Amino acid sequence: MTPDEHVAMFGTVDGELRVGGMPLSRLAARVGSTPFFAYDRSLLDGRIDRLRAALPERVELSYAMKANPMPAVVQHLSKRVDRIDVASALEMQAALDTTIRPEQISFAGPGKAPAEIHQAVAAGVIIEVESTTEIGRVIAAGDALGITPRIAVRVNPDFAVKGSGMRMGGGPQQFGIDAEQVPAVLEEYRDAGLDILGFHVFAGSQNLNAAIIAEAQERTVDLVSSLAEHLRTPPRYVNLGGGFGIPYTEKDRPLDLDAVADGLRALIDGPLAQRLPDATPVIELGRYLVGESGVYVTRVLDRKVSRGRTYLVVDGGMHHQLAASGNFGQAIRRNYPLVVGNRADAAGVDGATVVGCLCTPLDLLGDDVALPDAGIDDLIVIFQQGAYGLTASPTAFLGHPAPAEVLV
Ligand SMILES: *Cc1c(COP(=O)(O)O)cnc(C)c1O
Repeated sequence: MTPDEHVAMFGTVDGELRVGGMPLSRLAARVGSTPFFAYDRSLLDGRIDRLRAALPERVELSYAMKANPMPAVVQHLSKRVDRIDVASALEMQAALDTTIRPEQISFAGPGKAPAEIHQAVAAGVIIEVESTTEIGRVIAAGDALGITPRIAVRVNPDFAVKGSGMRMGGGPQQFGIDAEQVPAVLEEYRDAGLDILGFHVFAGSQNLNAAIIAEAQERTVDLVSSLAEHLRTPPRYVNLGGGFGIPYTEKDRPLDLDAVADGLRALIDGPLAQRLPDATPVIELGRYLVGESGVYVTRVLDRKVSRGRTYLVVDGGMHHQLAASGNFGQAIRRNYPLVVGNRADAAGVDGATVVGCLCTPLDLLGDDVALPDAGIDDLIVIFQQGAYGLTASPTAFLGHPAPAEVLV
């Protein structure tokens, strides 16, 4: 998607980018300092409405909150999703602070500490176990607390998903229990006093190819159906993962959600209804729910020309937004969409290089971007900042203050 398409998604008012209904410069005044992250409520809601309209009704929607754990965002989304997926005890506490019931919270992650497992068993959330060591710790916590733990087995599938930005299943993995080991594990823990609800398969993240996502879901249902034969009671929970991607660069096209939904509907009405009739299918999404609703807003501190190249130095950088600098799992650095937000209507004329304020050449936010002639105090906005921004960045690096975050 192009920067213009992102501007159109947010809209403009008086020539400025509109965020949360406000012209950007007014929002910056309201926040009181730059840089800051702003998340647009109406875009969050629009995304959920779109998903609900497309996906089969039986599918429950889970928010993978590591994408954006800001409490206001989590609270807002908790009224609109069915479930929350957490990956630490701290995230679990934030999820338990919402009105989502503990039975609707799942806890995944390959390195849950024994203390976290104890907390999770006490809370009554679904623990997605990733090894037999974890199963042992869950049983010990259940015994100590006098509670039957509720678990799902996270399975490392015997297939890999192509086209994922980050692969998290197939081949050797630190995630989950290898599919071929699962039958024996289920036999071993049959009488261990666990409530085994079902399975979780998460094959990968940031996929923009609907056909590949649909195929992964199909293979997941197939795999889970055969593993289910080794359970004492039919599965009530089948977490199909997610991995829906968002277009970060100009070359990326948005995911064809209707195509994904069509595949899912066929799967749910067919194989899932026949082979896993008691199971609630769950799709868990992080960036697809929140990523596109967020902007990172920085102010130009300096404009300089070095041997013919124009640099705009802004007051933010990779310490708040590691991914835009190309250092969060990308094989090749590509520009994130960015604009001069207080002059969003102006045409790009100038090839400018936007750099952050850190004293390292890694702190590159936009390489040779077409921007309107921008100078000191202009507001440079980076799009696609609602997920894996602030909490996925090295904020302590160079000791600059933390940015504000607002939900508007
Ligand atoms: C990180 C993660 C997600 C969310 O991934 P997105 O790409 O943000 O949708 C979902 N499920 C699990 C298990 C995860 O670890």
